[in-house]
Amino acid sequence: MKTLLSGGTVVTMDPAIGDLARGDLLIENGVIAAVAEHIDAPDADIIDAADRIVMPGFIDNHRHTWQTAFRGAGSDWTFPQWAAAMHGTVKPHYTPEDVYTGTLLGRLEALHSGVTTLLDWYHVAQTHAHEDAAVAALNDAPARSVFCLGAGWGTDQAVDDDIRRVRSHLAAGGRTDMALGMRGPDATSIETVARELKLAQELGLRISLHIEASGTIAQLHEHGLLHETITAVHANGIGDEELRMLADAGASISISPDVELKMGFGAPMTGQALAAGLRPTLSIDDVPSAGGDVFSTMRTAFAQQRGLDGSLRSRDLLEFTTIDAAASLGLASRTGSLTPGKSADVILLRTDDLTIFPVTDPAGSIVSAGHPGLVDTVLAAGRVVKRNGSLVGVDLPALRTRLLASRDRVAAAAGVPLDGTWQPQP
Ligand SMILES: [Zn+2]
Repeated sequence: MKTLLSGGTVVTMDPAIGDLARGDLLIENGVIAAVAEHIDAPDADIIDAADRIVMPGFIDNHRHTWQTAFRGAGSDWTFPQWAAAMHGTVKPHYTPEDVYTGTLLGRLEALHSGVTTLLDWYHVAQTHAHEDAAVAALNDAPARSVFCLGAGWGTDQAVDDDIRRVRSHLAAGGRTDMALGMRGPDATSIETVARELKLAQELGLRISLHIEASGTIAQLHEHGLLHETITAVHANGIGDEELRMLADAGASISISPDVELKMGFGAPMTGQALAAGLRPTLSIDDVPSAGGDVFSTMRTAFAQQRGLDGSLRSRDLLEFTTIDAAASLGLASRTGSLTPGKSADVILLRTDDLTIFPVTDPAGSIVSAGHPGLVDTVLAAGRVVKRNGSLVGVDLPALRTRLLASRDRVAAAAGVPLDGTWQPQP
């Protein structure tokens, strides 16, 4: 089965290929077969890419997707208010059905906005049924996801059996892969951290680790526990020395600029991380507080860093959200750029829409004026999952009804108002 994306502006994010002002991209059996100014493929299905930018799908490596039913509810919250609201108030009322519905709608929204690979950082209830519901939702969304099991989140208990249990469901290399959301030494003992890290290595799991204070990275370093499979999330305010420890270990960093700036984490570490030798990646984190699309996330990170020191170029932001993010997930050989041999995770952005027209510098236009409304077509592993602005084969009216019912039920059980007056008390 062959598909030819014909006559688009191709932004490959592969430095060896570069951008093509007008180019074709051939997909065979879900894999990118060729990228060139002109490709003859008489037996291929043709997708006309005129007036479209063709680029790799975005990669979000940190999103707590289960919270989708409360999208926007916490736009004004601080981090302690968010924790009191989501973990302290509504989470205890989440059933597996609520986790399934929130995760599925959240994954579909990300896909709708051009996110072809999403790491779902799971930290809702720790029962097998809740975990399995999240995995089922990711499996039901037609694109690559990584289920990041926040094992033991909020406790200091040993959770090795559960990590092994989920791993047995999610073999490496499938459409839904698994990662480990690890607790740091600030949340559990260093012995537990060491044991879980060893287990993750044994099971071939990448690791995502929230860093909320200086000293955590140094402690891991001191115990020989920093590894290239680790992505440090946030890490606001940590010093250059700890950033260099991450860089020297080959680890990566995930920055959630909107959440960090709005909720009181401190300044995003984009420029400091770069200076220390890390390639930053970007993530959404929490949709109760921040929009779910990567375009606005890139713009916040860009404006914040430019405001500080004038550094960064538009293309840096595109790298953070494609090829660098793929590397952070151990997927750089499989996705993140339009390189022949990689999975055909491709998005087509409208360039004739008045909000972006005319496009002179594609990378600059995507970063400065891009938005989800431009995402015309999405292919995930070569399969068309969005076409002409609409998700394919998804019964959105039914899913919306289901999500509203979930939100209303959880809110009623938790006793929280849905009229904009919810002010959680930390
Ligand atoms: Zn997080």
